[in-house]
Amino acid sequence: MPGQSPASFKLSDPRVADLAKQTLRTIWKYVLPYRGRFALSIVLGMLSAVFNGVMLIGFQLIFSLVLKGKTRTLGEAVDLPLLGEINLAKMLGLDADTPVGFSGVMIACAFIPVLIFLRGFFAYLSSYMQAWVTSKVAYQLRNDAFHSVMRQSPGFFNSARTGELMQTVTVQTASVQRNAMQLVQTLAQRPLTIISILVVLFAQDWFFTLMSLVVFPACLVPIVRIGKRVRKSGAREEYDSRSLMVAMQESFAGIRLVKAYARESHAEERFATTNASMTRNQVRWTKAVELVGPIVETVASLGIAAGLVYAWDRGLEAENFFLLVMALTQIYPPVKELSRVQMMLQKTTVAAGMVFELLERSPDIKDAPDAVAAARARGAVSFQNVTFHYRDAHGVKKDVPAVTKIDLQLEPGKFYAFVGPSGAGKSTLYSLLLRFYDPDEGAVLLDGRDIRSLTQASLRENIGVVSQDTFLFHDTLRENIRYGRLDATEEEIIAAAKKAHAHEFIEKIPAGYDAIAGEGGCNLSGGQKQRISIARAILRDAPVLLLDEATSALDTESEKIIQEAIHMLSEGKTVVAIAHRLSTILEADQIVVMDQGRILDRGTHSELLTRCPLYQKLYQLQHSSEDKTAA
Ligand code: ATP
Repeated sequence: MPGQSPASFKLSDPRVADLAKQTLRTIWKYVLPYRGRFALSIVLGMLSAVFNGVMLIGFQLIFSLVLKGKTRTLGEAVDLPLLGEINLAKMLGLDADTPVGFSGVMIACAFIPVLIFLRGFFAYLSSYMQAWVTSKVAYQLRNDAFHSVMRQSPGFFNSARTGELMQTVTVQTASVQRNAMQLVQTLAQRPLTIISILVVLFAQDWFFTLMSLVVFPACLVPIVRIGKRVRKSGAREEYDSRSLMVAMQESFAGIRLVKAYARESHAEERFATTNASMTRNQVRWTKAVELVGPIVETVASLGIAAGLVYAWDRGLEAENFFLLVMALTQIYPPVKELSRVQMMLQKTTVAAGMVFELLERSPDIKDAPDAVAAARARGAVSFQNVTFHYRDAHGVKKDVPAVTKIDLQLEPGKFYAFVGPSGAGKSTLYSLLLRFYDPDEGAVLLDGRDIRSLTQASLRENIGVVSQDTFLFHDTLRENIRYGRLDATEEEIIAAAKKAHAHEFIEKIPAGYDAIAGEGGCNLSGGQKQRISIARAILRDAPVLLLDEATSALDTESEKIIQEAIHMLSEGKTVVAIAHRLSTILEADQIVVMDQGRILDRGTHSELLTRCPLYQKLYQLQHSSEDKTAA
């Protein structure tokens, strides 16, 4: 159900059942590789469930041997549920008058921990196996969710919120694991536990059992009512926790902006509002869930009181009554858990719904089935009659195209500078060449081949990018440069850094190439970050280079160094530069002037200066601003 969040459904909505079915089916796909262990965990769980009944029969035998006083002999028959009368003296080949005695009592009592241990052992093994399987499932889910996010085209990230994505990949997958495990355990074991205890109970005293069963439906009425409340606040809590992650992630990522505008309190308020709502729903959820237990127990205690009256009236022996009460108290916890199944299913469905929505999202841009891997290109780029509209979060085209009927041939090895006012469509041409988006009309060609016929990876191998928002990973400078070509040697990294004029400042840092760039590269200056990113692009050595110059002016010294670095980088490459610096523009083989998504003119600086009014205007603006900076 793409486009609709599971939490927006009402419970009565038939789609909830569909979603639950779909969820279970998808989870099953993930469990399938581990079906052997999964089946074993179910069998062990069932064994532990059935063992509850076996244990009760064992206890009945022990009680009758121990609680009848010192005159009890082994020859006295014991009436066991399901098994009928047994005579221990006969079974063991002993004299009927043999007293149970101290050693008999000791042996009988020793069986109590043995029985309890065996039940616990089966339960432990089953839980362990289940945890093993669900952990593997969660591991795979996390990997697949991250894989799915990584495969999305950039258009997806325009509308997706990073915090929500992080929450889905980590917290929701953990929630699916936890709830699914509880669900399986409850569904596989609890009904059997109840049945095995009931069988023993009926065999022991059907009237008493029947009467006590009347108490069950009485328990269920308040539970059903509470269940509704639980489900609502459970689903809301999941969504609040996503919003909390978003509020946090955005505040941390945008901390410089927060600080610069002194908006700490604003960020805190936003966080606190969601936090309060989540806490409220958590408390509501806990309140409702925890209410179920006391209600069930109170109603059950009424049953025990009534049972005592019955025992007095029927003259039931203490050992029999003891067993009945014990069996009844054992039957209530699994009933309580079963009553939570719907709620657990809801929680699993909500969490899984979010994860699966992400998993099933197919990227907008996919490799064609017959896509070929491009070899190293010569670097001829051509836009043929390209028109492109951006889309909103629902995939609806914007009214105005970002670029219209672009026809442009870029020859290998030449330097092209794109100029134009903001919003002219320069960055859009970059995105189209990188195939971040597909054009609505026309085609983009690399060396004469439509880029849609190439694999995205091989296309992008042929394109180097130096963009104005240099991003450095929280890693060493060496690894940040190596990102351009992962198998580059130390010598190659240093050579690239030298060409990019990065080597000189890296050497001055005490840790050198091992220095860690702070998150977003905070501890380097803007110009230094740019030089690292140029070194990265030099290492990549792609035949086509996209250069998005920083708009912010650097001091003349840095400016000159970067200019030289870019010069090194551009040698022999087709360079497509969004140029803000006059020096870059003047150096270009050709300048392309864009406005409102169209190409207005193209030519050399002197040609354009004589015939293109927009270029004249842009040139004058640039000229005067650089004069001011220089002054
Ligand atoms: P600038 O120099 O300011 O970066 P530009 O020339 O690179 O501008 P583009 O970024 O290509 O211009 O924008 C062209 C048009 O497309 C603009 O009208 C812009 O509002 C729109 N646009 C750009 N990116 C998106 C997006 N992700 N979603 C929707 N519209 C967009």
